[in-house]
Amino acid sequence: MSRLAWSTVGAALALSLILALADAGPGKIRLLLIVSGIYVALLIAGSLSPSLDFYLFSARRSPVDQPWIALTFDDGPDPAITPALLDLLRREHIPAAFFCVGAAARQYPALVAQAAADGHLIGNHSDRHGYGWTIAASSQIFAEFAAANQTLAHILGDAPRFVRTPAGVSRPDLAEIFAQLQLTNVAWDVRGLELLYRDPARIAARIARTARNGSIILLHETYYGTRIIEPQQALAIAQRTIAQLRARGFRFVRLDQLLKQPDYAMTPMNADWLPEPGAAMLKARVNESATTRYTGRT
Ligand SMILES: [Zn+2]
Repeated sequence: MSRLAWSTVGAALALSLILALADAGPGKIRLLLIVSGIYVALLIAGSLSPSLDFYLFSARRSPVDQPWIALTFDDGPDPAITPALLDLLRREHIPAAFFCVGAAARQYPALVAQAAADGHLIGNHSDRHGYGWTIAASSQIFAEFAAANQTLAHILGDAPRFVRTPAGVSRPDLAEIFAQLQLTNVAWDVRGLELLYRDPARIAARIARTARNGSIILLHETYYGTRIIEPQQALAIAQRTIAQLRARGFRFVRLDQLLKQPDYAMTPMNADWLPEPGAAMLKARVNESATTRYTGRT
């Protein structure tokens, strides 16, 4: 639903409120309460669900008409999982995206640097991964994402170009803040919901079942500041998810490739400037048979 459509809904609801207030009998007051409740529920849903694009546009999926998908990992780096995850992605020749928490990146800069050196994309996932910033002043919100940008730029040499808010929450001024920081907001099309399903086999099967061409898959390295998923569990989820998606014929493309040049993301012409192992992956894949094993729906 577009922002214009949302504005229209909001204006219609506001008008109903004014009309209800103009002549408030008992029936009208009930109506007023109902309409107000719906409006507040809409505002809350808009804040919590990136798929509504309520306050802020977020990239959730590429319109690519090929079985290409991007893996993304949130909430790292964490020495308990990041090195093992990087090993797995190196073995599998998969370029992924890591949305890093600024404070964790300051604590473990070498892990961020290693992920970037391996050819993965590094994104901004706020500085402290708190939720208080959702009701804080605009200047504090700006500082939150600017601080993570600064940390990552210090490690990588360049500021990240992509951002994902904690849990995908949004607020009205984020679009302006991200524009100032030159960050593109990215959500997801399919997520692991690791805390809900727990079992790696079940999570991987569900992801593989719901993934479509161009999907952006959200998994977690950890849940920042907690141990509510164990590193071994997070690694098993990643392993099984990769295997299941491959079995359905999907191919892994780095997030920025999937979003920016979907039509060319897997062609040899990009191999020259993609970092390893992305370039190696492309060279290997373009030599594969033209007939794909892909059997999924679009
Ligand atoms: Zn997060």
